[in-house]
Amino acid sequence: MRGTMMDVPLTVPLLADRAARYFADVEVVSRQPDRTLHRTTWGSVIGRARALAGALLNAGMRKGDRVATLMWNHAPHLETYFGAPLAGGVVHTLNLRLSPDDLSYIATHAQDRFLVVDDVLLPLLDKFRARAPFEKIIVVRHTPREAPAGCIDYESFVSSAGGRFDQPELSEQDPCGLCYTSGTTGKPKGVVYTHRSTVLHTMFVPFTDGLALRNSDTLLPVVPMFHVNAWGLPYGCALTGAKLVFPGPHLDAQNLLDLLERERVTVAAGVPTIWMGILDALEKEPGRWKLQPGLRMIVGGSAAPEALIRGFDKHGLRLIHAWGMTEMSPLGSCSWLKAGMREMPYDEQVRVRAKQGLPAGLVQVRGVDESGREVPWDGQTQGELQVRGPWVASSYTDMEGSEDRWTNDGWFKTGDVVTIDPQGYLNLTDRTKDLIKSGGEWISSVAVENALMGHPAVKEAAVVAVSHPKWVERPLAVVVLRDGARASAEELRGFLAGRVHSYWVPDAFEFIDAIPRTSTGKFLKSALREKYRDYRLPGC
Ligand code: ADP
Repeated sequence: MRGTMMDVPLTVPLLADRAARYFADVEVVSRQPDRTLHRTTWGSVIGRARALAGALLNAGMRKGDRVATLMWNHAPHLETYFGAPLAGGVVHTLNLRLSPDDLSYIATHAQDRFLVVDDVLLPLLDKFRARAPFEKIIVVRHTPREAPAGCIDYESFVSSAGGRFDQPELSEQDPCGLCYTSGTTGKPKGVVYTHRSTVLHTMFVPFTDGLALRNSDTLLPVVPMFHVNAWGLPYGCALTGAKLVFPGPHLDAQNLLDLLERERVTVAAGVPTIWMGILDALEKEPGRWKLQPGLRMIVGGSAAPEALIRGFDKHGLRLIHAWGMTEMSPLGSCSWLKAGMREMPYDEQVRVRAKQGLPAGLVQVRGVDESGREVPWDGQTQGELQVRGPWVASSYTDMEGSEDRWTNDGWFKTGDVVTIDPQGYLNLTDRTKDLIKSGGEWISSVAVENALMGHPAVKEAAVVAVSHPKWVERPLAVVVLRDGARASAEELRGFLAGRVHSYWVPDAFEFIDAIPRTSTGKFLKSALREKYRDYRLPGC
């Protein structure tokens, strides 16, 4: 039909061109392993990404070939995020916290031909290199050491094409990225992102009622680039021309706070455990760091407790709660207050901000109960969250054992349990695998954990199911107390009374030094379930 719109392919080169053309002078700062700061610009990053793309093509890269990365967050990783897709390849981020066995399984399954690796991670690579399919290993050197035998130096590789690169024609349905799920239940599964899904997802990042990233921002992604594309923030920064500050390998609270202060960061992003550490440090040494007023911290990956939101509010710093997953590129929802909600009492506002929020634009959601019926949006009834949208995966690279993750009518089953309130806000109450089923009722471990983390003596809390002769399962709370603080099981039980349903109050409390973490910094509840598998509840 005449008079319709142009069918412009949505591809990553559009993002690269924009960053280079309009934001060439904007800084990209990377903290090196030795803590020195390396400064470059978007103009240089994209120039070098194009040179890398040329070098990859010269080295025999074919369309769709995988270019793996094993790197911390820094400028060369950003160059590879663009370089591989510009050349028609697929950037496959390897999670450096996985075991060598998992890494060799994933690299082999993905058929990674090229690897770009940090020299400081070569000892890790050595543990699985013989079992991986890499044909060319390109080493980013942060230390004066030579690239080891059989490897290519990244700088020499980037300059090898002599700056020549002709952008090949790309279709928006071509693959450009690949991530594997963490495989906490079964083997890791590959999720392929297309140019189209990546560009559409990127459009949501600066959305005002989303992550609200803008050109005047300075963003520090604590969330690693080896995990779900650092939540799409690197591409979002290219679109907006925001300044990027990469933290490198030093992710403890003090090092992060030093960097937030020094680079005048206005937005940062990370999992709750990162922010818990930062809040702790701020409270121990109030006034030590001068942060940007109104600094926004995007938090996701697991639920942000209300206490964390309140804690940062007291310092004038704002937590923004988002939910997502590998299969969703990853952004699925974001919690912000609808018009009129700012007039609500503060406590109610915090309750809304602690929810996972409203679905991202173009993402549809529904909750479905065990009998396959859609649950009402009453904020009470729990159901499994199912999603549909242009940046939601339609399959894994290998479907064995996962056929049931998609419904017959084309929705993805997230494995998360939610309530949806009449306003449309999602509230994640659990993951299906963490659910505690007591006498036929679902107990929300997340709600109990968050309530417990509101107690001033509690630093961290995880609640897991243990078996019970009458109720089948009952909750056990595993608690880490703040340094020097005390609280008995009795006191915590009393604190929970009135804050959660009475039958949700855990039957027992165990006090430990630290809750085990997953490779991406979330509480590793499966390890706790294993540890307390034969736990005898009082009176049983
Ligand atoms: P994994 O956690 O298995 O490594 P992902 O990184 O893809 O895999 O994480 C996706 C899962 O993380 C979601 O399905 C959900 O259970 C959890 N999650 C992510 N964000 C939030 C959030 N804001 N609140 C609660 N859970 C979250």
